[in-house]
Amino acid sequence: MSNFTFSRSEARVREAATIVPGGVNSNFRLGVAPTPLVFERGEGPYLHDIDGNRLIDYYLALGPMILGHSPADVIAAAHGQLDKGLLYGGQSELEYEAAHRVSAMVPCAERVRFAGSGSEAVQLALRLARAVTERLTVIKFEGHYHGWLDSVLWSNGTPFDQVGPEESPTKYRASAGQDPATGENLEVLSWNQEEQIVSRIAKGDVAAVIMEATMCNSGGIFAKPGYLEAVRDACTKHGTILIFDEVITGFRVGPGGAQKRLGVTPDLATFAKAMANGFTVAAVAGRAEIMDQLSSGHIMHGGTYNAQPVAMAAAIATMDRLVQSETFEAMERNGTRLMNGIAEAFAEAGLPATVTGYPQIFTVALGLTEPAENYRGLAKVDRAAYRHFTAALLGNGVRALERGAWFLCTEHTEDVVDETLAAVRKTLADIGP
Ligand code: PLP
Repeated sequence: MSNFTFSRSEARVREAATIVPGGVNSNFRLGVAPTPLVFERGEGPYLHDIDGNRLIDYYLALGPMILGHSPADVIAAAHGQLDKGLLYGGQSELEYEAAHRVSAMVPCAERVRFAGSGSEAVQLALRLARAVTERLTVIKFEGHYHGWLDSVLWSNGTPFDQVGPEESPTKYRASAGQDPATGENLEVLSWNQEEQIVSRIAKGDVAAVIMEATMCNSGGIFAKPGYLEAVRDACTKHGTILIFDEVITGFRVGPGGAQKRLGVTPDLATFAKAMANGFTVAAVAGRAEIMDQLSSGHIMHGGTYNAQPVAMAAAIATMDRLVQSETFEAMERNGTRLMNGIAEAFAEAGLPATVTGYPQIFTVALGLTEPAENYRGLAKVDRAAYRHFTAALLGNGVRALERGAWFLCTEHTEDVVDETLAAVRKTLADIGP
């Protein structure tokens, strides 16, 4: 049934577990079926693993590789910097140039600070919000993921039998070892419930509301019409800082991120992933009035590797490509073709499924007949069956995330999409009803 085998990866990960716990360096890489893979190289839309397989890659490292693997212009920019030094412990023109690029694209970005990872960018945004408002309470939403740090790793994937009432969702501690005290000033609400968030903000004690403006981590779920605007208005009225976590949507759903595409401007936004096509770059961007408080020295932001020059050179090259109109036009066209093709294939196979999100990042929710409105709406997704599907799809040469997300890059051309759709159909035929 399966054309591809993964026995060398399987053996290597098992052996490596004697030195690297689980054989992986992020828990998101654990438990992948049929096995976590070991790769040798990536080029364009493809990854090559140690079993000699060439796989069409829709993981894209969970988002960063928007220009595909090893794009010549980004690699050349990074090479160009390699001989000039790796870290200065001081400034370079590159980071100023990169900041100007972000500011030119992103509506909220009057000021930009670079950071080491998406999790760190979230930490900075929340610290800034608490400092400038002199308030402590932060609101996040069920099913939204903002990184793995103790302060925000709450209720991102609450088991559906433990979510509690919709009016007051369970604040679910997602990891053993996570300090429970870090959740004291964090409140969790249901997303897309306008009345709930607006009345909570109106109490006047909320420092910040943080959200994925389109929910990409748990499922491809859009805000209801008027919801983001209502949250924006309530935040403005009551002195609360609105933070859009654009670590996935930033530079992926359009050069200006979700905020530009959706027409709602937050006070602060966090970025990472697609900004530098695989180099470690993250950023907080936001209103000058808030961000400039960082220069007072009273609000701490550190990071040895912040604005690392090689990564900055790569970020500039990546952003230069993303502002070219044909970059996004092609991804919109090919991503839409892929979304529609997958929806048709599942329908023809007699499997109910929704395919929702943007052409550059969408989610297949097997078992749903209507798009979900928030995290709770995903309770009926048949995760086991979808996992079975992605494991079989891998056997047909296509690597897609088991949680349902598909990331697109510029190298997923019409031909690659068609090859993918053929593999999807073959997989559905292989596994049967
Ligand atoms: N915020 C969102 C929306 C994310 O999707 C992620 C990572 O997937 C993060 C924050 C954390 O970013 P990082 O993994 O770079 O720490």
